[in-house]
Amino acid sequence: MKPITNHLPTAELQALDAAHHMHPFTAGHGLAAKGARIITRAEGVWLTDSEGARIIDGMAGLWCVNIGYGRRELAEAAARQMTELPYYNTFFQTSHVPAIALAARLAELAPGDLNHVFFAGSGSEANDTNIRLVRHYWARKGKPEKKVIISRRNAYHGSSVGSGSLGGMVAMHAQGGMPIPDIVHIDQPNWFLEGGEASPEEFGLERARLLEAKIAELGENRVAAFIAEPIQGAGGVIVPPDSYWPEIQRICDAHDILLIADEVITGFGRTGNWFGSQTYDIRPHIMTVAKGLSSGYAPIGASIICDEVADVIAGDEFNHGYTYSGHPVCAAVALENLRLLEEEGVVDHVRDVAHPHLARRWHALADHPLVGETKLVGLMGSLALTPDKAARAAFPDPGTAGFITRERCFANNVIMRHVWDRMVISPPLVITTDEIDILMDRITTALDEAHAQMQAEGMLKAA
Ligand SMILES: *Cc1c(COP(=O)(O)O)cnc(C)c1O
Repeated sequence: MKPITNHLPTAELQALDAAHHMHPFTAGHGLAAKGARIITRAEGVWLTDSEGARIIDGMAGLWCVNIGYGRRELAEAAARQMTELPYYNTFFQTSHVPAIALAARLAELAPGDLNHVFFAGSGSEANDTNIRLVRHYWARKGKPEKKVIISRRNAYHGSSVGSGSLGGMVAMHAQGGMPIPDIVHIDQPNWFLEGGEASPEEFGLERARLLEAKIAELGENRVAAFIAEPIQGAGGVIVPPDSYWPEIQRICDAHDILLIADEVITGFGRTGNWFGSQTYDIRPHIMTVAKGLSSGYAPIGASIICDEVADVIAGDEFNHGYTYSGHPVCAAVALENLRLLEEEGVVDHVRDVAHPHLARRWHALADHPLVGETKLVGLMGSLALTPDKAARAAFPDPGTAGFITRERCFANNVIMRHVWDRMVISPPLVITTDEIDILMDRITTALDEAHAQMQAEGMLKAA
């Protein structure tokens, strides 16, 4: 077989891709007919495709390339570690320096007494760990019946059977036998579509109190934990009303259930603090991290666990672990990534420079005829598309308007993702103000084009 490289014509790469590569969350035949866009290089916030186009990445890959692309320091950290110790496990009373150093660093960064780290290869795996960990915790405390985990509809916690069950994605649950038993879901704090006549603050309280109602319905003695993303990411960057998290915290405290904050997206600077829990003043017992932990340069995730839970778990053998738990190369890359984030003041840059600049441009889109709501926390934002602004209406055929808009983004060399009819961004945290202007110019053009197309197709309320 001849070598397959960047230098092959795009059509040939696309044909091979279609013949042999099954893509995640993709209809294979549809993609094969169209051909995948092939990314060949990246630097900073810029992607290059096989046709030579330069694309500004408004999504940091999949919400993960916090430090930006092309950092030699991370490549060198990986090369050094591969040469010195490419692999060793941490199962049988052995350890190694990268795992020790990264665990200690995460304990230092994480708020409160989140001082203990169980490593995984991804966010999905870390959430699978959490399912077993919280149930085992209560069992060791003599309450084996306390095993139900409450999550939310339209949450995303990963794609393994366990983490996909924790998630509240109807389309995922419809395939392959999910959710697993003893995971239940309450409604999300999506005011724009579900808030009706309530004010956002009233609605936030209402939705938080669904947790208390669910605990009452099941019995406190059966509920192990509540899991939530501080801000739902894959669900469409659903920013909860300010009243939501304080009420959730009160309910978890009052009913003796563990709180798991899934910080896979909100961790490592995304919201303008190291963790979303700090932005919302949440005190979780367990935090899930992945993605920005290594800026996506190497696959690694972790559960960061508070003193009390870790102490109970440590009392006997926890029959759980992954071959790549604490993988030395991934841990070394994550450590170097955390060093760069700190030494270059990236979290301060998000809070003091990038967020304020982006916020001015982002919220100006509230005047756009297609946009019903603009949300932005740190560098994580969403726009709700609507056919009728005044009514906060949903499109009758959900997802079509979002898809049209995403296609216009692609055509304008900007990556913005759609979740049904919400458009979301999550750019690399190192984005400069000039790059934010380019990003926003292209997004505005794409919205204008999408609006014109939808108007021509009769998708919008007549003015
Ligand atoms: C991406 C994501 C996960 C899953 O992480 P993977 O590394 O893809 O397994 C879990 N939780 C949240 C909030 C995520 O965004």
